[in-house]
Amino acid sequence: MKILCILYDDPKGGMPSKYALDDLPKLDKYPDGMTLPSPKAIDFIPGELLGCVSGELGLRKFLEDAGHTLVVTSDKDGDGCQADKELVDADVVISQPFFPYYLTREKMETAPNLKMAITAGIGSDHVDLQAAMDRKVDVVEVTFCNSRSVAEHIVMQILSLVRDYHNQHRIINEGGWNIADAVQRSYDLEGMHVGTVAAGRIGLDALRKLKHFDVHMHYFDRHKLPDEVEKELNLTFHESVESMVKVCDVVTINCPLHPETEHMFNDELIGKMKRGAYIVNTARGKICDKDAIARALESGQLSGYAGDVWFPQPAPNDHVWRTMPHHGMTPHTSGTSLSAQARYAAGVREILECFFDGSPIRDPYLIVQNGELAGMGAHSYSKGTATGGSEEAAKYKKNN
Ligand code: NAD
Repeated sequence: MKILCILYDDPKGGMPSKYALDDLPKLDKYPDGMTLPSPKAIDFIPGELLGCVSGELGLRKFLEDAGHTLVVTSDKDGDGCQADKELVDADVVISQPFFPYYLTREKMETAPNLKMAITAGIGSDHVDLQAAMDRKVDVVEVTFCNSRSVAEHIVMQILSLVRDYHNQHRIINEGGWNIADAVQRSYDLEGMHVGTVAAGRIGLDALRKLKHFDVHMHYFDRHKLPDEVEKELNLTFHESVESMVKVCDVVTINCPLHPETEHMFNDELIGKMKRGAYIVNTARGKICDKDAIARALESGQLSGYAGDVWFPQPAPNDHVWRTMPHHGMTPHTSGTSLSAQARYAAGVREILECFFDGSPIRDPYLIVQNGELAGMGAHSYSKGTATGGSEEAAKYKKNN
């Protein structure tokens, strides 16, 4: 079989000869008891770069020993890109949300052999899920592999916005010491109202981590959490996103992108937020209307916006979130720490082993199966597609 794997570019200076840490902490289980990815073997060293082209998700030996063909490329956008050329006879496509290969209906129609799209990570909105259902292409992801990595990023970004870390760090880098400049937008998180849109694996983990900052915590989700969890965290549940955002100082967005959530944070919803609130969005860029966010930062309706997700990705060089005031954006990195890479590379291998053996893929990994939303897909997504406009990713020009 032919496996097409789209990965981000290698480091500009080449693959590292040495890493900052010698090894990774050993984790046994996720907090809900789910086991970590458990392939029969791995051919990579956990803690090394796996998500870039030369890292190959550690898959080459495994696939070639079994007689399969592996093609790895980062050339994924624009007419005539290598990924589109290789797709036409591919059986399986693997892509990471950090550098997504937008598998639109038009692209899927060029690939008659395509049987499965694997997300090396979590969040399969870069695949036209409706087209996958219509064409019976299965979609799977490595559920939980980086949920806690993202929750750490959320806590980091909430603190850095509220305390105004970026401004203070800039002052020091520029050789300054004006304390008044450094603190005129700096607050304590303690006592604030913090709410999450969705309390799935990431949202709930972020709440558990934030509990220790003595904040008031709120959530909105289409699935209510068990009473004991609400009690443990002293959570306020909201029936609607409007009800939650109007009482929160900080809102973190943790739902998947699908037709129900696309542009949920538009001018109207942002207008209902508390004046001066902060948003941290590590879910998907398109859940927010990018221009509405920039306008709200300009007017002071929002005090800060951070996250690591953009639309499309890579973000065009002139994307307004690169230059708007009071932002703390990073590239899409929260779920691809070296720690997370080791988990999702192992998860992809586990999925491929099951696929080749004809044995069942874990139910929580399923998004679409046999033409229907399945597993986590049925729990967390709605039918339809959210890939519209993804061709804009071709506008990004490297090295500037
Ligand atoms: P999850 O499936 O455990 O949780 C998703 C939650 O969203 C569920 O509780 C679901 O009920 C809720 N939800 C879905 N639609 C909703 C709606 N319309 N309104 C309110 N709630 C809704 O998934 P997770 O592991 O928590 O990940 C969530 C999302 O975060 C992913 O789908 C992905 O888009 C994003 N993510 C980002 C990164 C990153 O690197 N930045 C990494 C992993 C995941």
